[in-house]
Amino acid sequence: MCKVISVANQKGGVGKTTTAVNLGIGLAKEGKKVLLIDGDPQGSLTISLGYREPDGMEVTLATLLTGIMEETEFFSSDAIIHHEEGVDLIPANIELSTLEINLVNAMSREVMMRSLVECIKSDYDYVIIDCMPSLGMLTINALACSDSVLIPVQAAYLPVKGLEQLIKTIGRVQRRLNKKLTIEGILLTMVDSRTNFAKDISKLVVDTYSNQIKVFETLIPLSVRAAEISAEGSSIYEYDPKGKAALAYKNLTEEVACHA
Ligand code: ATP
Ligand code: MG
Repeated sequence: MCKVISVANQKGGVGKTTTAVNLGIGLAKEGKKVLLIDGDPQGSLTISLGYREPDGMEVTLATLLTGIMEETEFFSSDAIIHHEEGVDLIPANIELSTLEINLVNAMSREVMMRSLVECIKSDYDYVIIDCMPSLGMLTINALACSDSVLIPVQAAYLPVKGLEQLIKTIGRVQRRLNKKLTIEGILLTMVDSRTNFAKDISKLVVDTYSNQIKVFETLIPLSVRAAEISAEGSSIYEYDPKGKAALAYKNLTEEVACHA
């Protein structure tokens, strides 16, 4: 059985892409078959995996979704890239933003990505979708085809306050489009353990949400090494295997795998 997980938060720069990469590669290291889908026109996941010029790529998520929308072509395995660290990738580039605009007028606009994922998921144990920082049509598509949502939250006051809107949107998608959608958990990222402030924020999240939503025990530390990997094209396990961020992402991987 494949599990589809969206990594989502409309707040920008909270660690979604870093989490998608290192959870995906973490699961692959545990022997799981993993597909990562870049759901952001910025192509950050694609770039983070070492494909530095996504806008020059010919076949991307936008190509596949256009094929589905126009009923010209359903799925082509040409769009899947095999990464050397054992994960597969459907890349994205700026064309995805044009597609998002076109989606607005399409029939069944919220479930285009579901048609795609349904075609591929039997080949994988996990499909992980890196969402863009908005609650627009692409993120709704990702939520509509997912089993669960993992919510990275930067351990700071304002990002934590912004969670309500995301949780409301998830509830709406659950009721209208995808009954099986659950929240995998809230993941605190960029935690600066030297400060009391980080501890206060962690406590605020646990106190506010833990009766309704799982808050991962793993905290992702603030780490210069973690910040550097997006330019390296590799995971934290390759780049800094003994560092605290690698250990944290390994622990997160175990928490997610145990919950499957
Ligand atoms: P966007 O909303 O733009 O898609 P995002 O939520 O995907 O952003 P990332 O791109 O993963 O967030 O991270 C934002 C920035 O913070 C990046 O420059 C990244 O390298 C850095 N970063 C990610 N995780 C950490 C960490 N644990 N410690 C320090 N810096 C980090
Ligand atoms: Mg991102």
